[in-house]
Amino acid sequence: METGMSSTDGGNKDLLRNTLKADTGLYEAEDFEKKYTYDGNDLGAYRSPETTVFKVWAPTAKSVTLNLYESGDPSADDGIGTYDMSRDGSGVWSVRADKDLAGVYYTYTADFGDLANEACDPYARAVGVNGKRAMVIDLDATDPEGWEDDFNPNAGKNSTDAVIYELHIRDLSADLSSGIKNTGKFIGLTETGTVNSGGVPTGLDHIADMGITHLQLTPVYDYATVDESKPDAPQYNWGYDPLNYNVPEGSYSTDASDGAVRVREFKQMVRAVHSRGISVVMDVVYNHTYGTDYCFNMLVPGYFHRPGSNGSECGNDVASERPMVRKFIVDSLVYWAKEYHIDGFRFDLVGLIDVETIRQARAELDRIDPSIILYGEGWDMKTITVRKDVPLAVQKNVGRIGNFAMFNDTLRDAVKGSMFDEDQTGYINGNYEMKKILSDCAAGKTEWSSLPYQQINYVSCHDNRTLWDEITVMNPDMSFEDRVRKNLLAAAIVFTSQGIPFIFAGEEFLRSKENADGTLNENSYNAPDSVNSIKWDDLSRKEYADVCEYYKGLIAFRKAHPALRRMESAEDLYDFSVRTKRSATACRIAPCAGESSDGIFVIYNASDTEEKIKLPKGKWRICVKGNRAGCESLGEVSDSVTAERMSATVLVKSGV
Ligand code: CA
Repeated sequence: METGMSSTDGGNKDLLRNTLKADTGLYEAEDFEKKYTYDGNDLGAYRSPETTVFKVWAPTAKSVTLNLYESGDPSADDGIGTYDMSRDGSGVWSVRADKDLAGVYYTYTADFGDLANEACDPYARAVGVNGKRAMVIDLDATDPEGWEDDFNPNAGKNSTDAVIYELHIRDLSADLSSGIKNTGKFIGLTETGTVNSGGVPTGLDHIADMGITHLQLTPVYDYATVDESKPDAPQYNWGYDPLNYNVPEGSYSTDASDGAVRVREFKQMVRAVHSRGISVVMDVVYNHTYGTDYCFNMLVPGYFHRPGSNGSECGNDVASERPMVRKFIVDSLVYWAKEYHIDGFRFDLVGLIDVETIRQARAELDRIDPSIILYGEGWDMKTITVRKDVPLAVQKNVGRIGNFAMFNDTLRDAVKGSMFDEDQTGYINGNYEMKKILSDCAAGKTEWSSLPYQQINYVSCHDNRTLWDEITVMNPDMSFEDRVRKNLLAAAIVFTSQGIPFIFAGEEFLRSKENADGTLNENSYNAPDSVNSIKWDDLSRKEYADVCEYYKGLIAFRKAHPALRRMESAEDLYDFSVRTKRSATACRIAPCAGESSDGIFVIYNASDTEEKIKLPKGKWRICVKGNRAGCESLGEVSDSVTAERMSATVLVKSGV
């Protein structure tokens, strides 16, 4: 072991004073930013057969030491040496070993004079159990077979060609009915041929059969709230509590104590999903951390967070506008895209992150693959940035980012009602005033965007009640059949609107989150598997399987008709004539250039009575009607069509 770089800078004593109490004025000083912004891409631990180099940015520390450990267990007293690190002019400390330390665990201790903090490496690419110690890793050795030929199966397509399916790793396989052996693990997603108790396909086979294009995984980076040292204890969390941004979550691996296992198994999962033609999207949470004692903050006190800002309601909004935080976020995204072949990122509460950070992320990811899809929750959350006038990535700023989409709560609330205002009911529950909003959404128009590629259309996700539960709560006395009708109508609106359709795993067969006492769960972030898991045996019940077939049919229909997903601008390219009659709303979508069909006619009828709707001239083939959807003809009509009650009717022009 030898220290490599010599200290070239003693540091500016005035700048470095009194930084322990998050003295943010210091970080905002112009000369701090100028002096201590590092733009190298070598932070972390990098090894080769001959050397290992450690680099960490900690400009306010008086000294930094590297601690090496035999294991990743934070309670184990198994240190194998500490080494002084040398500082350079930009506040980066480094040390070099003259051997390959792959598999060795490490932390840094930053000494500030009256305080010394030991912390994990923010740039750790592997960690031990529960993420307290980083591990030096030989990443090439974790590549699964065929990794060099693994690529985004949807590369080159438009984002509006995507059909996104949101899944939590445990939900997939926690219920016995999944037939999946690796319960709650990344590699559960690699299993094929799995069936429920009635022999119906489950897991990845089912997901691929749906025809979806993008699988969005609820947080799979290393998060804090599941104890990885107790793999058999009943534990569950969604994982919106980041601990190590550049490391897979340990509880989803078969061995959290070996830092390389989770890395290898994550890649196996990506490879398996890709091999079925499906891209992988990660849910990333760069807007807050699990705690203010996040490792970056231990090494540079107060730097990573906006002091006193609580837009995330987690008490520690990330200060993405600070240069080294921005760099960290962009570096992290690029790392996942390159090392793990991730094809898209869903940004949790992106409205808390500044526009410039997301712009830079978009630009850097474009250099890897422009078809990497990016989208997020652009809610306006009232955060306090460290400087004034920092534009945030909220819905109304979506156009300032580039190729980026926001979750479309306009459509969501118009369909099923507001989750925050019980008096504002949705179209499927009888509020026909929502017709105008829905016909606008069908054309890709909202108050904050008129470009379909900027809109993620959805009526359910991991948050709040499932769609089926919401319909049940809103209509407690309604028959099963009629509640199903409402569910199907909601789905049809999502899949026939311009934008990017998104469904929550299991929505396609009436997923419910029922508590032990029979009540329906509204916020299942730490509820047990029994509430959260997908109940695959439901697919053996005919009424549920029929719903699944309907969703499959909608996806197939959408894929077969570019007109539904090719509109680039609501204003410019399309003849979009809207007619409404009482409770029903109907609109015509003109064909796009080169499309074989000659226009699509879409009718939503939320009322309890059927309606006769006049059609534009010509012959029309019915493809969606009642509880059936797909590309097959369900009959041909001209002049008019009867729109069944509580359902969508979709027709394709078939002749003059
Ligand atoms: Ca963890």
